[in-house]
Amino acid sequence: MLMAASKRHGVTASGMVIVWLLTAFVLACWPAQAADRTIYLTFDDGPLNGTTNVLDVLEAENVPATMFMVGLHASSNQESKALVARARSMPLVTVGNHSYSHAYNKYRKFYADTEAVVADMVRANAVLGLEMPAHARLPGRNVFRLPNVSTNDLSIDRKEIGIEEPDYEFVAATGFWLYGWDHEWVHDGTGKPVQSVKTMISEIDHLFGGKVRFVRPNRLILLMHDEMFQDTFNGPANLTALIQGLKQRGYKFGQIPDYDPLN
Ligand SMILES: [Zn+2]
Repeated sequence: MLMAASKRHGVTASGMVIVWLLTAFVLACWPAQAADRTIYLTFDDGPLNGTTNVLDVLEAENVPATMFMVGLHASSNQESKALVARARSMPLVTVGNHSYSHAYNKYRKFYADTEAVVADMVRANAVLGLEMPAHARLPGRNVFRLPNVSTNDLSIDRKEIGIEEPDYEFVAATGFWLYGWDHEWVHDGTGKPVQSVKTMISEIDHLFGGKVRFVRPNRLILLMHDEMFQDTFNGPANLTALIQGLKQRGYKFGQIPDYDPLN
């Protein structure tokens, strides 16, 4: 009787240990992995044709994103101003500064004048209604200047980086938090996306699964452009499919102010 009880007790205890070990294993491996992998959706150059579609999809899918907007585009007409206001009113959307002029796409000329670069960024803040510290992305440059992160654009030659570094430092010292990106959904000259949604998802899986080093571990900043999501390119369907596909694979979506928090 005593033996039977003891045995029964023993079975129960070892059963519990197995359940506990399994639970610990599952918690340690699978859900943690998904939870640790965060994607930061960023959309550049708006407001443009395509911005309305982006905001519609973000609202429908209820995911955070950052819209790095260009002051010149934002102030061009009433419709653009309304788009900035709409983006700013969305709780999960961060409106970021992407300069006033976008360097008129003449980057080396732009970055040759540090004071003008700072003034251009400050002017965009006024147009977009942003305050310091402002989340920002420099035009044409994949540069980070954050409290714990400082990286330069690897596609720019050393001599040019030497010329431009004071710009980055002065812009950061003025109160801008500068974000580059880890991966891009590329577009062609017309704005049409190059990779299919399926290719994008497999590229993101590959990046997280491989030895590629992100600027911050397990955090991928994805660069896209508003113009890619125009109706002519099936924008709403493509963006919805990307977000739903990434959700299904367990990725989280992060808000840019949490990317490199002070604490
Ligand atoms: Zn841009």
